[in-house]
Amino acid sequence: MKNYLKNTFILGTLFLFGCSSLTEKKESASIIIKNGTILTMDKNNTVIENGVIIIKNEKIISIGKDELLKKYSTTKIIDAENGIIMPGMINTHNHLPMIAFRGLGEEGIKNRLFAYFFPLESEKLSRDLIYKATVHGTIDMALSGVTTYADMYYHMDEMAKATKEVGIRGVLGETVIKYPVVDAKEPYGGINYAINFIEEYKNDELIIPAFGPHAPYTVSKEKMQEINSLSKKYNVPIMIHVGEFDDEDKRLNLKNKSVVEYMDSIGVLNERVLLAHAIHLNEKDLDIIKNKKASIAYNPMANAKGATGIARAHEMINKNIKVGLGTDGPMSSNQVDLFRTLSYASSMQRLKYNDRTIMTPDLVVKMATIGGAEALNLDNKIGSIESGKLADIIIVETKSPNMMPNYNPFATLVFQANSSNVETTIVNGKIIVENKKLKTYDIEKNRKQMKEIEKDIADFAKDLAKKAKETN
Ligand SMILES: [Zn+2]
Repeated sequence: MKNYLKNTFILGTLFLFGCSSLTEKKESASIIIKNGTILTMDKNNTVIENGVIIIKNEKIISIGKDELLKKYSTTKIIDAENGIIMPGMINTHNHLPMIAFRGLGEEGIKNRLFAYFFPLESEKLSRDLIYKATVHGTIDMALSGVTTYADMYYHMDEMAKATKEVGIRGVLGETVIKYPVVDAKEPYGGINYAINFIEEYKNDELIIPAFGPHAPYTVSKEKMQEINSLSKKYNVPIMIHVGEFDDEDKRLNLKNKSVVEYMDSIGVLNERVLLAHAIHLNEKDLDIIKNKKASIAYNPMANAKGATGIARAHEMINKNIKVGLGTDGPMSSNQVDLFRTLSYASSMQRLKYNDRTIMTPDLVVKMATIGGAEALNLDNKIGSIESGKLADIIIVETKSPNMMPNYNPFATLVFQANSSNVETTIVNGKIIVENKKLKTYDIEKNRKQMKEIEKDIADFAKDLAKKAKETN
């Protein structure tokens, strides 16, 4: 009897233990990514071979190796199939709706700004076009691995709506300029437009509203100062074109002062300010930018195409200035993704400094990810794959012929890859692109919308081409 009880007790205990290990709960995750090379882009530039990423809701909650698969369960596993897993890329300078006009006036027009940009913008920019063109542009970016873009344009509420429907992140700066424009009849009407836009979107999970004063020579000193205090009040970024042209000091009538010195002297250079282009700057300017903690959007491909010059990106990085990569608008570089820009970013600097050892691929990928996040002051949320950060992640496949061999994933990305290699795009923990297919917007509907726009604009552009020929 005693033995019987004892045996029952032992069996029971074994049974209980067995049960408890069987039912030992794995923590649940929304998405698990496995079997790829993770470029974390963290401070130590950690690379994890055969890495695993655990995503819960909108956040990354753990990164490591296969052991994590024992700890977490999910209904959604993504097998990266030895691809490159990296933070979503960040395009720090764009005017996205101009994608409706890309490819126009490419026949060597001298004053393309007046012959094409201005007539198109004054005649063809409607709310509807801005919405549809933004849908198209954000689809192009999502499929090409850009998960955040910074933009300066008009009707930012339409852009925000489209950006959210496609599901990527946008830092959207309403343009402020001294002329009447498409969404503001009064000069500087963009300030009020921006205030309303900021009020509406200040707590949005995907949209970061901002001010986009066009340039120091198209916005007065007083208005620049007003925008600066409003940006402080609302804690939103200011994005502005600076040093794009070599005569900006003359346009501003500055004597013995650079444009950067002028901005500093009127008190509008600080950590909330992102300077787009920053080409025609001297070393003193770079020191001022560094001291004021302002940041820079480097647009090598657009600057090469427009023959505006090569920014001192190598020196900026050496001075620890925050530098991100941008494409500029789709009429300037015709691309809204960053792949070609990655290659330009390195090659242009090597040409400029006549030094093939600078701007190594890892530095370029840094600019396209965490560097861009730093430039936009979003590095506490995005830009790297680290626990606690928002899950903005892309997978770039390495199976296509152009991706083989893949000895150094940074070099593969910068010098071999193109946008069609992007397999998966995740933004804020949501899968936007899977198996190279967009999941958030009806791609046929978008195609139809763009075909209609193209037809309408093609007719209008014929006239522009004729006039441009006469005056060129
Ligand atoms: Zn621009």
